[in-house]
Amino acid sequence: MTKPTIATCSLAGCFGCHMSLLDIDERIVDLVQLVQFDRSPLTDIKHCSEQGVDIGLIEGALCNAENIHTLREFRRRCRILVAVGTCAISGGVPALRNRIPVEECLNEAYLQGQGIDQPQIPNDVELPLLMDKVYPVHEVVHIDYSLPGCPPPADAFWSLLTALLEGREPSLDYPLRRFD
Ligand code: SF4
Repeated sequence: MTKPTIATCSLAGCFGCHMSLLDIDERIVDLVQLVQFDRSPLTDIKHCSEQGVDIGLIEGALCNAENIHTLREFRRRCRILVAVGTCAISGGVPALRNRIPVEECLNEAYLQGQGIDQPQIPNDVELPLLMDKVYPVHEVVHIDYSLPGCPPPADAFWSLLTALLEGREPSLDYPLRRFD
C-alpha cells in the first residue's frame, strides 16, 4: 500500500516553522514510517510530484512575484493545504513593512546602511518583482487549515498531521493555539 505524501514549502519566512516541525524529535521516525516526504527543504526536492501530494504545509508570507508563483503551483499540487505560522496566516514579521512605502524600505536597507562600500538598490532583471505590500497566503489561494503560532509548537504539528492522516478533523488543544 502506498503511503500518503507530504510536501512543505517556505515563502517569505524564516524557516522557524520548519525547525519547529523538526522539534517533534523522535516522533519524526514515526512520521516517516507513516508518510512519504515529497517537495520540501528537508528532502531538497524543488517541485511537487506531478501526481500531487496529499498534505502541503506552507510557511511564510507573500512579498514578491516569485512567492505568488510558488504558492499557486504548490496549491495546484496539494490536496489539503495548511497555512503554517503567523507569516502565512496574517503576514507576520514580513508584513511589518506594510506601513512603510517600499522605496523608503529599499533606501534604508541598501543606501543608508552602515559600512556599505558601494550603496545601490539591487536591480538585476532576474530578481523577483517586489510587491507593494506583503500578503497572507489566503488572499491568493484557498487554504484548508491554519496552524497558528510563530512558530506553531511541535506538538501542534503532530496533532494536526496525525489527525489528517487518520482521516479525523484536526482540533488543537487550547494550549497549542498560540498566536505569539
Ligand atoms: S511564523 Fe514565525 S517562525 Fe514561522 S516563518 Fe514566520 S517568523 Fe518564522
